[in-house]
Amino acid sequence: MRFDLMRRATQWILLAILSMGVQATAIARGPVVQALVGATLIDGTGRPPIEDASLVIADGRITAIGRRPDVKVPSGAHVVDLHGKYLMPGMLDANVHLFFGVTIDALIRYDDRYEDVIAEAAQVALKNGVTTVFDTWGPRQELTRVRGQIAAGQRQGSRIFLGGNIIGLTGPTSTDFYNYRTLLGKAEADRIDARWEQGAGPELLWLTPDNVRERIRAYIRSGHVDFLKYASSGHAQEQFIAFSEAAQKAIVDEGHRAGLTVQAHSTSPESLRLEIEAGADLLQHCDATGLAEMPEPTLTLIAEHKIPCAALFETQKHLAWVLAQDGEQSDGYRSAHIKHENDRRLVAAGAMLLMTTDAGVLPADIKEVPKFSAAVSGDDLPIEMGQGHFRWLEAASELGMKPMDALEAATINTARAYHQSAEVGSLEVGKRADVLVLSADPLADPDNYRRIERVMKDGQFVDIQSLPNPRVLTKP
Ligand SMILES: [Zn+2]
Repeated sequence: MRFDLMRRATQWILLAILSMGVQATAIARGPVVQALVGATLIDGTGRPPIEDASLVIADGRITAIGRRPDVKVPSGAHVVDLHGKYLMPGMLDANVHLFFGVTIDALIRYDDRYEDVIAEAAQVALKNGVTTVFDTWGPRQELTRVRGQIAAGQRQGSRIFLGGNIIGLTGPTSTDFYNYRTLLGKAEADRIDARWEQGAGPELLWLTPDNVRERIRAYIRSGHVDFLKYASSGHAQEQFIAFSEAAQKAIVDEGHRAGLTVQAHSTSPESLRLEIEAGADLLQHCDATGLAEMPEPTLTLIAEHKIPCAALFETQKHLAWVLAQDGEQSDGYRSAHIKHENDRRLVAAGAMLLMTTDAGVLPADIKEVPKFSAAVSGDDLPIEMGQGHFRWLEAASELGMKPMDALEAATINTARAYHQSAEVGSLEVGKRADVLVLSADPLADPDNYRRIERVMKDGQFVDIQSLPNPRVLTKP
């Protein structure tokens, strides 16, 4: 009741603010035909960089690309001289949570502003060079609306693909996640969790494979998800298996029947193996196998069959912080250490790796929340939206990944894994013009990924200085 009153009071205040004119405005359109000339261009396919390149863009798509003498720039094109700069594709993050919903305060205070929170996160990503994100657990209706607003040019932000709920798991208030049920009361907690679960929550774990199949069909019909993610592992109890082998196969089958890619949440060697056997298209946080290392046969299978493997790399600096914080014998450090070893082995085996961060925007005051203050104070926090992907690229270098392989992991690999490579992930004729202009060579030093001067999405340069706008969770 207490929280309900607080929420209503907050809603009135927010309604008042919104009616004062904090509204999304249409994004100004730039010139229709543009040519970016003179830069060194890295196209994201693994081909060697092109020096003194020309990239021609019309109506948001790439129409010509190559060495400057070989490319005819149409008369009347708006020419942007980028000598001394580096061009690369906009990056893709294979796993984000645009609305993390970690604190009880954020869940209640922004009850009517989930869309603004989601857009803010998509803008933090875009500002930092991530032009496409894949949201793997969040409030589906609100994510769907913001995905549409961004696609229609009504809001700025990274392009969103969404999976909705992790099928079989709960929303944020339950013990699967942040455990706010006793504080909120059942009715309020159910109402919040339903925004995530959307009819595909924990009750599915009780069902037979045939009944799971029916529920998956209904889930797909009830909205417009871009892919499915289901629980192969439990979330709170990472060593527990969630769906049975037969149920996992039914879920993957139904996803494929609807033309969707399917992935699982797995955190143990057996849940990972079950997911692979069920036919998942990509393995989400495949490197997270808890307190047991990835078995050699599984690793070999992943590497040899080039099963897309979205890995949660962490820097040495972050690992050292976990060690200092928790000690060598703690489960936290042991699982981080095992994950790091898995990463090293996956890189050495030449697995098809995707940059994945699990990132979201954390409320600016989260360090003052006792439940989270220690965890979010760590060095090189991997889950910080806008920073996590830069840290991932530094970790890739530390793990011995070749610079071009790391760049592909941050671009084309994820596009391919999600079956979106006809549209995004590389700079090639016919694709959407999502382009980063860097002041230094990202292949020479991973730190140079941070040196983003301009971001183009769908052929339009983004006013990155103005983002995020509005600010909800972030502080200026
Ligand atoms: Zn997951």
